[in-house]
Amino acid sequence: MEEYLVRRIDQGDTKRMGETIRRTSSAGTQLSCFEDFPHELLDVAACDLWRHLPGPSLFSLPGRDKRPLFVTVLLHGNENTGWSAIQELLRQHQGRDLPRRLLVFVGNIDAAKADVRTLDNQTDYNRTWPGTRYPEAPEAELMRQIVDLVAAERPFASVDIHNNSGNNPHYGCVNHLGENYLHLARLFSRTVVFFTRPVGVQSAAMGAVCPAVTLECGVPGSRSATAHAAQFLDAALSLDHFPEHPVPAPDLDLLQTAIILRVPPDASFTYDGSDADFRFASNIDRLNFSELEAGTRLGTLGGNGDRRLAVIPGGEFDADADSYIDYVDGEIRLAQSAIPAMLTLDPRAVRLDCLGYLMHRIDRSGRRIAGS
Ligand SMILES: [Zn+2]
Repeated sequence: MEEYLVRRIDQGDTKRMGETIRRTSSAGTQLSCFEDFPHELLDVAACDLWRHLPGPSLFSLPGRDKRPLFVTVLLHGNENTGWSAIQELLRQHQGRDLPRRLLVFVGNIDAAKADVRTLDNQTDYNRTWPGTRYPEAPEAELMRQIVDLVAAERPFASVDIHNNSGNNPHYGCVNHLGENYLHLARLFSRTVVFFTRPVGVQSAAMGAVCPAVTLECGVPGSRSATAHAAQFLDAALSLDHFPEHPVPAPDLDLLQTAIILRVPPDASFTYDGSDADFRFASNIDRLNFSELEAGTRLGTLGGNGDRRLAVIPGGEFDADADSYIDYVDGEIRLAQSAIPAMLTLDPRAVRLDCLGYLMHRIDRSGRRIAGS
């Protein structure tokens, strides 16, 4: 760890954010707070942050407007676009004031070191925010601290930046349908996904405090994704206030998750046609964000042909889980029209999270638009 940072922590700044430096019950979840952003970090890759920071870290950067924009990055250690975007944004603003104060939470640097989403001995940093199913986890205590700290600063808006492993466009996710949430998401993409599950995510917790969005920036490591996320952050920092008028309907593709598709933990799967309980199409991620008709084939059944996907209601629709997937003549088919997202070819993502989601178009009141 570098000397300059150790010194800042030990000083235990007397300002409000500085007072919160304290240990929680488990190593690796101690929050460190910084009243500035060390210039040296502008050139440190996400996987090397552990050399410079003692653990999860909250940075406060001054700006002309005192109500901060809150940004979280690296809640998932192998999703580096958020960190790169912060670096790019701060490089662009070097030597001049930010238009608005910025609070940056750099999350799971231990997982970033190992280039994984979450370490085996950790609970997912984006499933442990208030509302979580794991309130006893040390990570949940960490996230509670952060929400308390940030809420006390009356944030203007909150942004959580992620990557995913499938072939997906860039899109925003919201957990509330208020116009300011949609305005915020629209600054990033016209495609906006509304979801209520999984619970314990940053944008749901922060959405109770201020307009909040999760950015999905495609696969990690893309320079254009970094540029896009940095551009969004610049626009959000520069926004003086949210527009009075609603986001015009033609400017928004609003979708809601209906169903989460999971492979049962004891079932096998492949993408190359070799035998397994589920043999998914080798290009299944190409289906993401397209409007699929009933009958679209997702793969075939292998093994004894008797395994079934776990189909879990993922939203507030009266989604009848049994009405989504058909198994006919050994084929796995959509039983009704739907728009998939996050269908992935990454077996680890399937095991840790899910195969993907099925969505429908919704209107502003959250009602499914017929036929979508
Ligand atoms: Zn993520």
